[in-house]
Amino acid sequence: MKIGLFGGTFDPIHIGHMVAARVALEALGLNRVIFIPTGFPPHKMGVSVTPAEKRLQMVVLAAGYDPVFSVSDWELTQQGPSYTVDTLTHYRSEYPADELYFIMGADMLHDFPNWRQPDKILQLARLVGMARPGFDLDKCQALLQKEIPGSEERVYFVDMPGLEISSTWLRERIRNRQAVDFLIPDRVIHFIEENRLYDGE
Ligand code: ATP
Ligand code: MG
Repeated sequence: MKIGLFGGTFDPIHIGHMVAARVALEALGLNRVIFIPTGFPPHKMGVSVTPAEKRLQMVVLAAGYDPVFSVSDWELTQQGPSYTVDTLTHYRSEYPADELYFIMGADMLHDFPNWRQPDKILQLARLVGMARPGFDLDKCQALLQKEIPGSEERVYFVDMPGLEISSTWLRERIRNRQAVDFLIPDRVIHFIEENRLYDGE
């Protein structure tokens, strides 16, 4: 089996995430994609993030409709910051015989050489870098080859329709009472309204 692992803060989950998961699945012939909301994102230290339970519920609402997608609360049950190397070590032991593909947007891939134990990450899983407006995949590829020689065998670059949206921008729109329909799945919008998330200071 080829299993995609898609980590993120998902605060909130939006169509950029859904399209990335779908396109990665098709492009690499994955059997399934597991969404993994992160507990304490190390790169978002000091930034206030919606409680994990609520982010998890939004991901379940967005991804639960299709059996090729599933959602894992593993990172949320861990103490302290979530490092990808630890998450992948866990999934490697969970799925010893399967191929793991760690999916991320080009913005994250850019920074990948600075992550904790990038070489070990590349042994544990293949990486999938999804196009994201504002980040040049070719430059990303060149940078990675320079910083981590040999990485090209383990890293895939996948084009997808450019969706210039982020959770940050969507939180801002909700705070300003602007519509977010078509950008966030309907069921997630209802959840956000019911729970008054991102609703002012
Ligand atoms: P924030 O603005 O809070 O950082 P975000 O939109 O970047 O939110 P994250 O939860 O940080 O969302 O991202 C999870 C993963 O999804 C990351 O690997 C990120 O690169 C990727 N991703 C997010 N939005 C897009 C998008 N529009 N196109 C492609 N990849 C995306
Ligand atoms: Mg982000």
